[in-house]
Amino acid sequence: MPIKIAISPISDTQKNYLLIAQSRPTSSRAIEALLNVCCDEDITSGREAVHPEWAKIFTVNIRQLKKQLKASQLVQLEQIFGQAAFYDPAVLKINLSASRLVFLLGAGASKPRPSGIPTVSELLVDLLQRARKLNRQDLDRLADFCEEANITNIEDLLTAAQLSEFCSRNPTVLRLIEFLIYRKGRDDSETQPYPTMSHSRGFRLPIGDLSAVAFLQDTLQVLFGLLSSRMLPAKPNAAHKAIAKYAHANKSTSIVTTNYDCCMDLALGTEGRDFSYLVDFMNKQSSENRAQAKSSLIKLHGSLNWFYCDTCQQVHQIDIKKTIKEYLTDQGCYSVIAVCRECGGQRRGLIVPPLAMKFDMAPPLTPLIGRTQESFNAADIIIAVGFSFADADLYISRMLTKALQSSKETQLVVFDPDYTVVEKLRRQMSLHVSGFNPGRILRVGGDCSEMLPAFLARRLKFIKTKPMVEFKDKAIRVPTKERQIQHRTKASRRRPKGRS
Ligand SMILES: [Zn+2]
Repeated sequence: MPIKIAISPISDTQKNYLLIAQSRPTSSRAIEALLNVCCDEDITSGREAVHPEWAKIFTVNIRQLKKQLKASQLVQLEQIFGQAAFYDPAVLKINLSASRLVFLLGAGASKPRPSGIPTVSELLVDLLQRARKLNRQDLDRLADFCEEANITNIEDLLTAAQLSEFCSRNPTVLRLIEFLIYRKGRDDSETQPYPTMSHSRGFRLPIGDLSAVAFLQDTLQVLFGLLSSRMLPAKPNAAHKAIAKYAHANKSTSIVTTNYDCCMDLALGTEGRDFSYLVDFMNKQSSENRAQAKSSLIKLHGSLNWFYCDTCQQVHQIDIKKTIKEYLTDQGCYSVIAVCRECGGQRRGLIVPPLAMKFDMAPPLTPLIGRTQESFNAADIIIAVGFSFADADLYISRMLTKALQSSKETQLVVFDPDYTVVEKLRRQMSLHVSGFNPGRILRVGGDCSEMLPAFLARRLKFIKTKPMVEFKDKAIRVPTKERQIQHRTKASRRRPKGRS
């Protein structure tokens, strides 16, 4: 049976049914709507897809469906929705009070309102839109290029910028890259396409356009400024607050995050009193001694309230609450680059794009990697919230693999609306951990600011599903001149009116 789960193609009739089901998810009308959709000829033949939101309706009505349907029919439905389930029923069996939890937060955790920070895939588009308003030629050119080349990942841009900067300082590396990738220099007939400079040993080495690199640095500073202006005013959402509540009730909880924003920090309270960053700040007393019996917030990629001076190699922490207040009331400004009080050099925000770690750009962050592995190893359950397991964060996936490898009991619960994330993880772990039981990775879909608090308060069973944004304003009225999918089943006559 070639039933597909996807957001499109979806007929208006199916959208109508979904609206009915979502208005009262645990009702006989919702069940009827679900069954009508699943019996539809267009769907069973694969011409039309089943929207993933139906998995929610299926999950919350599973007990009632068991009573109503034959076992074989139920199996069929499970085959359709099993992979897209709203949450794995095994999540309800987790004994929270007897388990040691560690949280891993990604960009998706800061997306739900009121935080409202775009995820990695949306951030660059958002920043470039803001950049256009600054009326700068370099930024316009960059925005044009990214648009034309369909580049939407900010991590790709930051990585490329960093590589360019590195190559401009190390011409031999650039030359090797050109040889290895573009085969330049292998063919005698090919002339050198770049300016060259004399090397002390008599070779002629290429140099990048140094003025372009200086310009790039400036462009990046502007982008970092835009990034900060997006993240600085962000407020914690219900997911951050639920984690903070858990961390206060369960001392020595570890929260690992790749986010630069301070939503989690603000939810936790005051650093030093309520939690520790596990970083030695020059302007604070050593956090090592105070870290005992206190929850820790491990910010692997740095933080908006951390500044680093290359010359003194010291990290400074600014008072984030005060800074946000001053920023919002225009009483003070947030500096992307500041003057170092110790040496008069430059203090820059300690914010590191993921791939940069390999270039040893921020030595103060290196010890945090070891602390992350320790906390993963000590966990009974690792809870990943809005973490996309992208290639750029491969080192984190490896640390997780190691933790799941060293203890056969450790479970991973993934809070993510995208069900393919868990599918991918299960495949990866099965490849890397011998005899891996995929059931150790559990999924909770939906909005994490709704689902995580319910999970931690053991209320997951009773959660009501929120309608999806795209259906909020009666998406059925959206004119689609595309293929209108006709429904020929008996039930279609009783259906509410489709698009008029
Ligand atoms: Zn300094």
